Amino acid sequence: MRTNREDSFDAVIVGAGFSGLYLLWKLRGQGLNVHLFEAGEDVGGTWFWNRYPGARCDVESVDYSFSFDEELQQEWRWKERYPAQPEILEYLQHVADRFDLRRDISLHTRVQSSQYDEDTRTWAVHADGAEVTTQFLIMATGCLSVPQTPNIAGLESFAGKTYHTGDWPKEGVDFTDKRVAVIGTGSSGIQLIPEVAKVAEHLTVLQRTASFSVPALNGPLDPEFEREVKANYPERRRRARASSAGVERGDNEQNALDVAHEDRVKEFDGRWGKGGFALLGAYQDLMLTDEANDTVADYVRDKIRATVEDPDTADSLIPRGYPLGAKRICVDTNYFETYNRDNVTLVDLRKSPLESITPTGARTGDADHEFDVLCLATGFDAMTGALDRIDITGVGGERLKNKWQHGPTTYLGLGVAGFPNLLLIAGSGSPSVLANMVTAIEQHVEWTAELLGYMSSHGYDTIEPTPEAEEGWVAHVNEMASYTVFPKAASWYMGANIPGKPQIFMPYVGGCVEYEKKCNEVAEKGYSGFVLR
Ligand code: NAP
Repeated sequence: MRTNREDSFDAVIVGAGFSGLYLLWKLRGQGLNVHLFEAGEDVGGTWFWNRYPGARCDVESVDYSFSFDEELQQEWRWKERYPAQPEILEYLQHVADRFDLRRDISLHTRVQSSQYDEDTRTWAVHADGAEVTTQFLIMATGCLSVPQTPNIAGLESFAGKTYHTGDWPKEGVDFTDKRVAVIGTGSSGIQLIPEVAKVAEHLTVLQRTASFSVPALNGPLDPEFEREVKANYPERRRRARASSAGVERGDNEQNALDVAHEDRVKEFDGRWGKGGFALLGAYQDLMLTDEANDTVADYVRDKIRATVEDPDTADSLIPRGYPLGAKRICVDTNYFETYNRDNVTLVDLRKSPLESITPTGARTGDADHEFDVLCLATGFDAMTGALDRIDITGVGGERLKNKWQHGPTTYLGLGVAGFPNLLLIAGSGSPSVLANMVTAIEQHVEWTAELLGYMSSHGYDTIEPTPEAEEGWVAHVNEMASYTVFPKAASWYMGANIPGKPQIFMPYVGGCVEYEKKCNEVAEKGYSGFVLR
């Protein structure tokens, strides 16, 4: 590696979430001169910004955590089965302190642009007044890090306070005795709604699309379970890496339609009773055909009918028109039960469309709804949003944003043709959001660190995918998605939640284990599909 000046680095990392922190530790350990820029006031990435009441990961805490350091995983004690946002943030702060990462992190510093210089083969990085150069520019900017505020007529005219779940105030929001409205019933809304209902005078939920949700069955972490996990952690982590979802769900190899209805219901009941994502692993074809998907979708619909007392409200809460899981399935605590409360009203925007936000509330087709506070749980400009907002210019002055105007193109979700030494962690075209993110991130960080070590020991300065390899990978990602029911929903996986965004299925559905095999094969063949100079 070439440099050691203060404004000149071997690697610049953007983002101090799970990816950026691990990458910083890993690359520093290889003797590289690394710096990390983070826009937030502290480390944590998505867990720094998403502080809304109820915010919680729906992967279990013992799995949604780093495996790279045995002492860390033995010492850290998770409080609950599913970790709440404050606990995850505390964990990431602890990781930053424990591994002395902060000395190489500039907080509160947003990267605005970066240009590749073909003569020096370096990237110039401009970040809130900081100007540095680096050999490698590594984007650990997250898949769900740019909140999306919808363009609803009259939104700015609202006289009360408006909050977005993805950019929640650090000091919190007191809903006591307030009339509150929530727009958005995806994972964030489904977590926020029961918490607001507990304290607000009245809660109005403005729902456009009903979601499939399964109960988390959260609770304090059982000490016996914790002991068992910690005694077998390496094996548990190995199995997670060797799985499709990056976490063991006890996936069943059978097809749903090869099984009698009563047996299927028994299998679904068992998994429903365990809580969380286990339901999705009930049969291997649930995401492959409409018919198989219907079996589990109908099962969840029946659960909703059985939970919600008012039949009209239940009917509105029943998801229809898209396969279960094709919009990311939600995991909840008392979500559907919340609609049995006297202080909660569901407004079905499919029956009564949202016309405008007014100074005192919202006007829908047939009524005015008054409230004091509006919460937007309206999601993110996913997968590409953070990269789109940085002006990244590669070879020949080509802008990444322009290159991706018809949808993101990458090789393995790790590199982009025409952008040498620009590397992505959990980029579009990798399993990322379809997996336990921490498993996916660890695999990417380790692959990237090995690559940089290989380049250094073999005397290479630059790496970039060939256009052919990139084209082939994009075609493969699309082909794999086409064998599933995923593209049948207008989801953020497809970019469908952002007006004008090209609609292409962005994550890789082939599963973590197959994906990692491909990445390793590429490395073993001397980084086939990449050009090294
Ligand atoms: P989301 O899944 O994109 O949901 C956004 C919601 O806002 C949808 O219900 C959407 O309705 C609604 N919406 C958007 N614009 C609207 C408009 N103009 N009028 C009415 N409704 C509108 O976003 P999210 O809930 O923040 O979740 C995003 C992802 O983050 C999740 O899928 C998950 O991967 C991750 N996440 C995970 C957790 C967890 O670990 N538990 C928690 C939160 C988030 P339509 O569907 O009709 O567009």
